[in-house]
Amino acid sequence: MSGNVLKKGTTIINDRPFVFTLSSKDRTTRCDNCLKSGKLLKCSGCQYVYYCDRNCQKESWSIHKAECAHLKKVSPKVLPDAARLMARIILKLNQGGADEVGYYTEKNFRKFKDLMSHYSDVKADAKRMEHFTSLCGVLFQFLNEALIPNIAELMGIYGRICTNSFNILDLNMNTIGVGIYLGASVMDHSCKPNAVAIFEGTTIIIRTLMDLPCFDWSQIRISYVDLLSSNKDRREELHNTYYFWCDCERCKKEEPMAEAAACPNSSCDSPCSIEVDECEKCNTRISVEFKKTFQEVVDFTVHHLEKMKTMAYLDACKICLKKQKGIMHKFNVQHVRTLEMAHIAAMDLKCWEDAEIYGKELLPGYLLYYGEVHPLTGLLYLMIGKIQLHLEKPKEALQVLNQASTVLMITHGDKHSLIREELRPLIYQATMESDTHDV
Ligand SMILES: [Zn+2]
Ligand SMILES: [Zn+2]
Ligand SMILES: [Zn+2]
Ligand SMILES: [Zn+2]
Repeated sequence: MSGNVLKKGTTIINDRPFVFTLSSKDRTTRCDNCLKSGKLLKCSGCQYVYYCDRNCQKESWSIHKAECAHLKKVSPKVLPDAARLMARIILKLNQGGADEVGYYTEKNFRKFKDLMSHYSDVKADAKRMEHFTSLCGVLFQFLNEALIPNIAELMGIYGRICTNSFNILDLNMNTIGVGIYLGASVMDHSCKPNAVAIFEGTTIIIRTLMDLPCFDWSQIRISYVDLLSSNKDRREELHNTYYFWCDCERCKKEEPMAEAAACPNSSCDSPCSIEVDECEKCNTRISVEFKKTFQEVVDFTVHHLEKMKTMAYLDACKICLKKQKGIMHKFNVQHVRTLEMAHIAAMDLKCWEDAEIYGKELLPGYLLYYGEVHPLTGLLYLMIGKIQLHLEKPKEALQVLNQASTVLMITHGDKHSLIREELRPLIYQATMESDTHDV
């Protein structure tokens, strides 16, 4: 009975958002309606949002109409993203949005009120309550008081945002907005997911990453958090954000390398815990000084990665990597993250040689933490191919672009603009240039 098998690379949800907002950091560089970047026109009403053209403005008007005057009122102050999303939900619910449905199977659907609000969890969460209070302050300035529901209802909306919203990602998987997707929000989490959410503009697309015996939505798992992190960090993040302790397959397994030191014996590649006094594999002694150095390198790295959250600096990355050498295990999460930063920084600077080196060094870490079939792994292959074209190595580029294609055809599919507008032209270029080099 192979007829019911759900193949990897199957789209199981393709849905428009219930509400969404563009990230305020992208306010002047991306269209408020379709999130594309390019030449934009300012809304003459609020002078706050930008659109590609009249069409995008028209499409957005049913929801923007109610915001426009209010946004003008707060300008030049920038409205916090969470406040804008919350205001949009309030406006939408006032316009009959409570009846809107989002399907997660052919027959099953949910409405906004069906989303979990985690009311009592939020109420007991001091950090969230502080955030909620400050949001209410903004909302009362921003919206007509007559539109604003009572506090309990507001908190219900806030709780639903906190635990159900999706970051909307651009082609490079960078966050450019946030949205509520009624159908997709039914999906549970796993740190070893069998499906993934990608985006085309503001549309969410959920695709399977592996063959599944049949389609059963209750067995579909996506990841709510970045998988490049240790068991402990992921579990804490999931608990702090979504109020559950993950007990997935991956969380049950030990991952000693995530926080490991390198073995002091440079010819041994075993991850070493600094809780013990010798390497489990080769019995080399792990001295007190070595442990101290390791801790210093970890602190130094964490500090610099934190500072680089908004901007990657190649020099700082190189200093971190130099200190990590021989001290941190190659699969230590902090080391992999440093390589990722170095790769990004080198690309920003168009230092293609460095970008290629760090990209290649990053691959084993991505394969371990994200897995072979993951959008970020596919994108890394694509980037390495692109870099190799800059370095005039079309044959190597073609090889790695084909690897990108194998992955991205599963995660994105041939209709996605990443394949049509990015990958295919690169493969074409690599093929042409390989042929030319042969002559
Ligand atoms: Zn647009
Ligand atoms: Zn406007
Ligand atoms: Zn887990
Ligand atoms: Zn060893």
